[in-house]
Formats: sequence, structure tokens, C-alpha cells
Amino acid sequence: MTDVVLATINARYSHCAFGLRYLRANLNQGRESAKILEFGLEEWPDRIVEAILAEDPKVVGLGVYIWNVELMGEVTSLLKGIRPELPLVLGGPEMIAVDDLPAWAHQADFVVSGEGELVFAGLCDDLLAGKIPEEKFRAGRVDDLSTLRLPYAEYTEEDIAQRTLYVESSRGCPYGCEFCLSSLDRKVRRFPMAQVLGALEDLWRRGARSFKFVDRSLHLAESEELLDFFLKRRDEPGLFVHFELVPEALDENMLDALSGFSLNSLQLEVGVQSFNPDVCARIGRKISADKVEQALLVLRDKTQAHIHADLVLGLPGETWESVKDSFDRLFALRPDEIQVGILKRLRGVAIARHDEAFGMVYRDRAPYDVLQTGELSFARMQRLKRFARGFERMVNSGNFHSSAARLLEGPSAFDAFMAFSDWLFERTLQDVGMSISRKTGMIFDYLTEVLGVDESEAAGGLAADFDRLGRKKGLPEKVRRWAGL
Ligand code: SF4
Repeated sequence: MTDVVLATINARYSHCAFGLRYLRANLNQGRESAKILEFGLEEWPDRIVEAILAEDPKVVGLGVYIWNVELMGEVTSLLKGIRPELPLVLGGPEMIAVDDLPAWAHQADFVVSGEGELVFAGLCDDLLAGKIPEEKFRAGRVDDLSTLRLPYAEYTEEDIAQRTLYVESSRGCPYGCEFCLSSLDRKVRRFPMAQVLGALEDLWRRGARSFKFVDRSLHLAESEELLDFFLKRRDEPGLFVHFELVPEALDENMLDALSGFSLNSLQLEVGVQSFNPDVCARIGRKISADKVEQALLVLRDKTQAHIHADLVLGLPGETWESVKDSFDRLFALRPDEIQVGILKRLRGVAIARHDEAFGMVYRDRAPYDVLQTGELSFARMQRLKRFARGFERMVNSGNFHSSAARLLEGPSAFDAFMAFSDWLFERTLQDVGMSISRKTGMIFDYLTEVLGVDESEAAGGLAADFDRLGRKKGLPEKVRRWAGL
């Protein structure tokens, strides 16, 4: 018998639903029997509803995220149509702002915004006791994180063996970047370090070796003790730890500790977003671009960390030239990976206050990406989006390790890759969904026809990329021929 079903649709199988595990761990009534159901984006809403109802629950909680909001709307309508009396509670980032909810959310019985663990537990206590609370909208907030039960025992053996294990030691972010959901939660709170270390120890004993911290920046945690936990285990095979880091908060002690990690065991995600100081000031991002640059240089020189740096394109007031300048400046710092993101107007965040003054137009449904701005026409935003997708698939994917460098050569890496992206679109009217073989053929054509690279050299590089990845099939015939295979 299942009292409570907690369900969500994950973006990928490898991504565990961390929030649902917190909710289950903190239930009072019905915790033992509560079930977490996780689905993939390929599932039909009818099938999801069928699986939920098959548990015959007394309460259903749904986790709503930007990637599943449309599907969750259908699931909600179906559930309320088929079982109107079954209490349905919505939570998750798409429910963060009570005055900015998706229209379908009003069909639910309850909506919990923010940190829902304790509020949801209280709601379930009432509902399972047969009481129907009157208040439909509830704000969740946990001021003292020591009052929460940690969720790590909820990770199954399968989670530990096959999926990304999310962990955290703090919540909140003191910075106020207006495009970011974390800007709504400025007060930093920490979990008791002894509890965090105990939980990590348990996970380690159960075989976990890969940990992704969701703290908004490593320096907000008690980083010394945390890093020490992993440094003591640095020679263990398979160790991999991911931290986000606000680069200007990097200090000597942290740098010393970070430099102790061996190759492939540490990933640092560094939010750069934009090097344009006026744009950063406008959106409340009080982080000095020069310090970011310095920190990235030091991290690259003094550590073996894999550095993943983020840019956001389309911020209010950002011009084509300033996008180019930010990309080129970041590219020159040679992080291992540049994630080129497109601005989204997330629910509840303050970025919307610039809409009128800066001509911001966003898609009115998920993923709420910017369509045009006063400075960047729709046509230019389209080119930037193709650039971003192409960069992800051709460069970040690692599939074209030796050849991708040629696509970025020149006085401006931005101009060089934009020229390729534009050419690819003109030639194919496509920028996504191409097979690896077709992409390989296109890169070969571009290198030889446009950049004038010798055919044998271009083909040799592409064949080497295939070989390095152990691909046996898919090398186009002309590439094979020129490579002498
Ligand atoms: S972008 Fe990073 S630094 Fe800025 S509010 Fe979000 S988490 Fe904090």
C-alpha cells in the first residue's frame, strides 16, 4: 500500500530526481511506503498517469521543471480528470512564483513554492489524517538546514552504479544575477558539516565515486573540510567530483587544495556569463570580469581540474560585438569546455524588469528562451542559437577533437566558428539532428572547400578522431578514400 507517490520526469536517465529524494526522506506519515516514480521525456502522459494510479496513492506530489513543464501539465489534467478527489501537490522550480504559474497549475489542489521538504511533509500529515487544508499555495523555506533529514540513503544501488549522484553542503547564493533562480535565495545556509561528511562516507562505503555538488559556489561551503574528504581519497580509481565556483572567491587555501586533485578527478564549473561590465552591472551581477579572468588563468595553470566555463548570450543590452568579445576573451583563457547558453526568462526572476527598456522578447512557453532584444534581432539570435548548438555538438562533444580546432582558428574564434555555423546552415538548412557521418562529411567539405585545407590532411584528422573514439563505422566514403583507408 502506497500512501504517497512522488513523481517527476527527468531530463535524462543519468539525472536522479534529487528533490524527490529530499521530499521522501523528510516525510513523517507514510514515509516507509512512499514511492518515487521517475520517468523519461519519451513517456506518454497516459502511461505516467497509469503508473501513478497503479500505486493507489492517497497523495500525489509532482516535481515540475523547465524540461518537463508541458508534459506535467498534461499529467495534471489527466489526473484531475480521472481522479478529481485524489489530492495533487505541485512543486519544483516551475512553481517558484505563485503570481507567475503555468495556467494549468491552478488545477492542482496544492502548490508548494521554494524548499518544499517540511511544508510537503506537513501537508501529507494533514491529508493522510483526512484533513483538507484550506490554503492552496504554500511557500517552503528551511532556515535551519540541520532540521532536514538528508536524502542520501534514498539513492539506490542502481543510482550509485549508473547515475549522477547530486550532493550539497549549502543552499543559497549571495550574488543576485537577475537571470538566475538562485538570486531568489540570497541567504546562504549550511548543512552541519559532520552530517555531510557522514553522508559522503556512507555513499563512499556503498561504492559511490562520482559526486556532483549543487552548492552555488564551493566557497559557500566549508570547503576545506569538504575538499579534504576527497583529497584523502584522491588515489582511489574512479574518483570524480564536480563543484561550481564563483571564480573571484578563489583564495590561496582553496587553490592549494584544488591543485592536489589528480587529472580527471575534479571538474569546476565556472560561471562567466559575460565580460561586458555594463551588462553585468545592469543585471545585478557584481562579479569583476578581471578577477574572473585572473582566476581562470590561475586555475588552468595551477590545477589539473577540467574547467567548464559558462557564457549566457542575449542579456539585456548585450550587442553582437560584446557577445563576440566575451566569447573570444573566454576562449583565449582556454577552459576545457565553454558552454554557450542562451538567456531564458525563468519564472519569478527579476530579469523581466528590463523587458521594455531593452526590447526583450522571450518565448512564452518552455524553455522561455530570448527570441530577440533591442540590440540583437531575431535573425541574429537565430544565428547565435545555431552557433551555441553547433559548438556543443562539434566542439564540446569531443567527437571532432583534432578537426574542431581548425574551425576556431583565426584572429577571432567567434568569427571563425560563426562562419562555419552560417555555412553549415546555408548548405543543409539544418543544424541539429545530423548523423555523425553527415557531420563528418560537412566538416571535411568546409575544411577543404572553404578553408583550403589539403584533402589528405583534413581526412587524416577526421579519421584520427574516429579512431580515437573507437568508431568502426560511419566515416564517409570520400573521407575514407582521402585518408587512404
Ligand atoms: S549565476 Fe551563479 S553567482 Fe549568480 S546568482 Fe546564480 S548561482 Fe549565484
